[in-house]
Amino acid sequence: MGKTEREYRQDIVDIGRLVYEKGWVAANDGNISIRLDQDRILATPTGVSKGMMHVDDLIIVDMQGKKIEGRKECTSEIAMHTIIYSMRPDVRSVVHTHPPVSTGFAAASKPLNMALCPEIVLSLGCVPLAEYGLPGTPALTDPMRPYIPNYDAIMMGNHGVVCYGEDVYKAFFRMETVEHFARISLVAELLGGGKLLPRAEVDKLFSSRGRYGFKAAGAGPGCPVVAEDLEQVQDQDRFYVTFQHSGIRSLEFT
Ligand SMILES: [Zn+2]
Repeated sequence: MGKTEREYRQDIVDIGRLVYEKGWVAANDGNISIRLDQDRILATPTGVSKGMMHVDDLIIVDMQGKKIEGRKECTSEIAMHTIIYSMRPDVRSVVHTHPPVSTGFAAASKPLNMALCPEIVLSLGCVPLAEYGLPGTPALTDPMRPYIPNYDAIMMGNHGVVCYGEDVYKAFFRMETVEHFARISLVAELLGGGKLLPRAEVDKLFSSRGRYGFKAAGAGPGCPVVAEDLEQVQDQDRFYVTFQHSGIRSLEFT
């Protein structure tokens, strides 16, 4: 049996406190939502700290993001949530925050797309980067569209990260995985660059994703980047390569 609306409200308050305590949001940043049914979304309002919410602060909006219940005002970022629900019927919850390390990668225009750790390949595949767009406008959501069907976590250029899943805990844990992977990637970069997994190993991990219940493909052309992608570049004795598909960072060799 599904949870009551009151229980979903408590889930959002609990996850809000966690993202605040983890330092993924400052002041009133971020937003969290749960799809209650076909027509209604329970969401955090604008202007509240996610770490200090009361269950009655939450609002209910329709599938177009128009408020239908609640005292407080709707967030300007609600379209980020409604577009994901409209494109992914399997998704019941969306979590958006600005975790400092992964947002740093997004601000540096570097997607977290390297095949570095088996757990990440298994759980997320690769995390693409959608181009920057002005928050609260279609310029923010339009660049996300191509990635929503195939990925469960998307970085937004110069902005932050959005993760989603079958419930708010899955969405939250994906955000935790992205930020954890960003920290690992940063350390690997500082130590001279990570040693990527080869294609054969990545293929093995991808073939077992279905068994673990991951629905999104988690991959696209050249995403994740595997060891052979780098060797190919070195074979060609080129100093720069930019992958043709969007969302892949340039690889530079000196
Ligand atoms: Zn934001």
